[in-house]
Amino acid sequence: MTLTFDEARAFHTEHCVLDLHADTAKLMDKLGYDLIARHERPMPRRANVFGHVDLPRMRDGGVAGQFFSFWTAPYPERGCARSVADQLDAIDQAMAKHPTELVWTRTGAEVRAAKAAGQIAALGGIEGGQALEGELEPIAAFARRGVRYLGLLHFSANAIGRPAKGRGADAGVGLTGFGRDVVRECERTGIIVDLAHINRRGFFDALELATQPPMVSHTGVLGVHQHWRNIDDDQLRAIADKGGCVGVIFARRYLGSASIDAVVDHLLHIIDVAGDDLPALGSDFDGFVVPPEGLEDVAALPNLTVALSRRGVTPRVLEKILGDNVLRVLDTVPAWGSLAP
Ligand SMILES: [Zn+2]
Repeated sequence: MTLTFDEARAFHTEHCVLDLHADTAKLMDKLGYDLIARHERPMPRRANVFGHVDLPRMRDGGVAGQFFSFWTAPYPERGCARSVADQLDAIDQAMAKHPTELVWTRTGAEVRAAKAAGQIAALGGIEGGQALEGELEPIAAFARRGVRYLGLLHFSANAIGRPAKGRGADAGVGLTGFGRDVVRECERTGIIVDLAHINRRGFFDALELATQPPMVSHTGVLGVHQHWRNIDDDQLRAIADKGGCVGVIFARRYLGSASIDAVVDHLLHIIDVAGDDLPALGSDFDGFVVPPEGLEDVAALPNLTVALSRRGVTPRVLEKILGDNVLRVLDTVPAWGSLAP
């Protein structure tokens, strides 16, 4: 049954809608972007590559929670940990200013409680293992600040391994010894391993070690569009075998199309190949990506629910895609320790 926009928006009210990846905290830290204020889109006017997320538009879109992903420029590596801390501080400051609006969450129960209380749930992840600066200790420190996932790689080689593409890419080189230690330490501290951006060899090295569900926070799939950034069917099945989830990115270049139906194609391909416990949303909003038509910002998210329903996706599977698969992973990988004061 095809939902109308209003029906899709109402569906969002009834369920927990969660997105795995947005780079908004960097804008907050570097540009003073105000997460609490409503922004006109697109920003900048011609390209629409950022300014996709703020609290008023999250409410418009019926979004319960957002993973803010903290990325760092890896050269020099020293300073990357500080940069993550600065982005965490930016979220903390927004929460301190508006405690009734925004609340830090780490678990499925906390996300559900935030929604019940009318608050938007903020969650945190790190994009790129250079944030560790070659040490294991920061993993526990980040976990205590509430970070729930670590993307091992970004666009360049680091002490953990090699990227799918970018500086230092080498398809023949997998996880380093340090990278293996990082995977183990993530699992010890309740940090979900995020395999976006890592090369295929490192991907399978990490999965071989993993005893907890991993994720790919933002990606497209090769089964729909050939792009070096996308993952193949074996990778999808391997994540499904471990009970993880895969967030589909809202970026035209990785989707291979400017149509919102391309997002649906990628999500449905994941279901066809590996089942409906796998797909999730991983917009990459505010990450210098151009989203498809109809998904120009977070407020437009009900359009995706409409498009999915038009393709025959049932309410139960919609629920899984929109948030339940992520909540399941959050519940399966317990958050470690207590939050740092
Ligand atoms: Zn990315």
